[in-house]
Order: sequence, then structure tokens, then C-alpha cells
Amino acid sequence: MAQIVTNRKSGLSLNHIIGCPLDCGYCVRHFWGNFEQKIPQLLIPTEDAVEMLLTHREFRPHTTPVQLFNKATDPMLPGVKPHTFAVLEEMDRRGLSNLVLVITRFHVTADDMARLERLRHVRPTLLFTYSGIEDARIEPIAKSTTTVDSILNAARHRERSRVILYWRPIVPGWNDTPETMAGVLEVGRHVNAIVFTGYYHKEENAGHLRDLGVEVPYGTGWERRKVLPAEVDARVVQAWKDSGIATPLFRKASCGVTYAHREADYNGHLGVPELCDICPAAQLARCTDAHRAPTRAEFRAALESFGYDETTPFLVEDGHVLTHALGEQRRYALQHALGYQIWEVDHPHLHAAHGRALQGYEPGEDDLRVLADARDRLTESARYDDD
Ligand code: SF4
Repeated sequence: MAQIVTNRKSGLSLNHIIGCPLDCGYCVRHFWGNFEQKIPQLLIPTEDAVEMLLTHREFRPHTTPVQLFNKATDPMLPGVKPHTFAVLEEMDRRGLSNLVLVITRFHVTADDMARLERLRHVRPTLLFTYSGIEDARIEPIAKSTTTVDSILNAARHRERSRVILYWRPIVPGWNDTPETMAGVLEVGRHVNAIVFTGYYHKEENAGHLRDLGVEVPYGTGWERRKVLPAEVDARVVQAWKDSGIATPLFRKASCGVTYAHREADYNGHLGVPELCDICPAAQLARCTDAHRAPTRAEFRAALESFGYDETTPFLVEDGHVLTHALGEQRRYALQHALGYQIWEVDHPHLHAAHGRALQGYEPGEDDLRVLADARDRLTESARYDDD
């Protein structure tokens, strides 16, 4: 929690305020032992935090995607909102055109939208976490219409800003009936894009929910990736098709954000092509045009530009680069810089699992063999690394 600037999959993330009163039962703050901190606390002055972000070795003007307060608070809480705008406005004052993701479920007013619309350079996206869950033990905010009102408000007043319905977490038994899905999709009719995803199944949040009497439909196999079984994925996609709404649906946040801003996905998800079967043709063309494997020299140059160990083993494969022991944060920085998937050899992705946990997926024999061979391929490549 003390790390103020970190690299997350959707962008370089600034978190100099921690603490949240919204009490979502599945919150990731359970993992970090911070769930009991209800009052947002400022760790350092916002002007120092902005400096820290913009001088970070992995920040690139105009290109690095940025996220504000996505780890341990909600950026639109009354005590946090002034800082959210202060960061956005300082970036804008410096003429930076980076994409900035603001993930919230709280009040967004017409005045907030007017202030966002005054930005001239920074390209903001509001992602509203909205699940359709009605059980207030899981999401206390479900008792109110706060999030839906905010989504509709933001959608009505947006011009340059983009608005995404972030449909998560989708969990069997919590919010997967046809009626609930139809209700969420109806709200999604008004926004630029809908992104859907699953739930982080870890001991801390599952224990909290079970103590509240909530049924958590996954076992005790804790996961480092989000869980969303294949059959639920298929039902979500079908519900979206049946709804007839024109708003595109995506499986990854960066896909929704980049579609909304008419850019290619900065995470290079095209390297996992089964993710793209629901993507609009124009966006697929944009990503296809931009998607190019780095040469070995380019990959080494990227390592060098970030000050990473240049002797790190890597192997450029179709759609991704295999690496070992770089660590998640370095891999994300490289991924954003190259627009190409960067994988850790010990956490490979299985075909058609969409980068999710494997609960609810059945890998084929070929998939398992490719995984089992990955380390050998990487070792072999390092041995003949002479270009
Ligand atoms: S084409 Fe694929 S990678 Fe690009 S935005 Fe669409 S789903 Fe994402």
C-alpha cells in the first residue's frame, strides 16, 4: 500500500490516497490488509504525487496510459475528488495527451462532467463499476441508484470524455440471471463501451463474504487471475447479442478504453485473438494495423530504456514475448511501450481462457504441451541469442 506509483495492466497507476468507506465485499483491499481503513488518507501532497508520476522512469509523455486511485479508494469520493481533478488538470496544463482511466462507482455530477470537459489535452475515460448485484452484503452501494444515476449523467454530458460501463464482478449466483444481465445491458445502451470481467477469488475476500453468509461459488483453490468460467463468458456474450444494443462489448478494460478513443489496444491483446471475436470490425482493423512483434534488438532497447536487466532471457513468439523473472510491473511497462503481450514463462496463458484463472476452462492436450515446453523454448533461445 505504500507504493504510490505502480505499473498495473491498464496503466501506470497513481495511488497517494488510501482508504474507502464503500465496503464492497469482494474489494482487493482485503488482500493488502487495508479493508478496515474507511477514511481516505492522503499519503503525500498531490503536487508531489504528480511530480512522482510524471518523472517516473516508466512514464512516457502522451503514450503511457495512466490510472488514478484505482487501488485503494474511489476517485470520486468527496474527499478524493479534488485530488483526482488536481492531477488531471496539472497533466493537462503540461499539455500531456495521455489516456487517463478513472474507475469509480460513486457520484458523478453534471458539474464534474463540465470540469472534465474543460480538459484540452489529457484524454479521460470514466469507467463505472456496475455489476447489477442486488445483495447489499456484497455491495452496500447496491441499495441505492447512485452508480446508475452517475452513468446516465456522465453519458449525457460527455463530449471529449469517454464513459464505460465496467460490468464486474460477474459471479454465478450473484448477478448472472438473464434478467440481471438484461438490466445491466440496458444501462450500457448509453455509454461508449461495456467491459465485462470476473472476480478475484482469494482467501481474504472469500472469507469476509462467507462470514457475512454470502455463498461464494468457487472452492478453496485461490487464484492470481480473475475467475470467469467459459460458460458464463458465453452467456454474457449471448445476452449482449440478444439485447440488440449498439454499444460494443469487450473482455479487457484497455480494449474498451482504446476503442472509445479510436486507438489500437496498448496491451496488444490481439496477440490473444480469441479475445477479439466480439470486437467491432473498425477496431479490429486498427489493432491489426498497429500490431507488430518487436525485433530482438527493439526488445533489448526497450529493456535498456527502462533501466531493466538487459541480460534477461526472452523469446519473441507469435502474439507475445516469453520472459522470465522480470516481475509483473516491468512486464506491464514493456507491454504498454511495445503494444505487444509480455508473458512470464511460469504463468503462461492457456488458449481460450482469455488470460483468466483456469477454473471453468478445460485445456486441450495441445495447450498443455505448449505450456510444458515454454521453459525449454525460452532456455534454448537464450543459448542462441547472438543477434
Ligand atoms: S481487436 Fe482485439 S485487441 Fe483490439 S481492441 Fe478489439 S478485442 Fe481488443
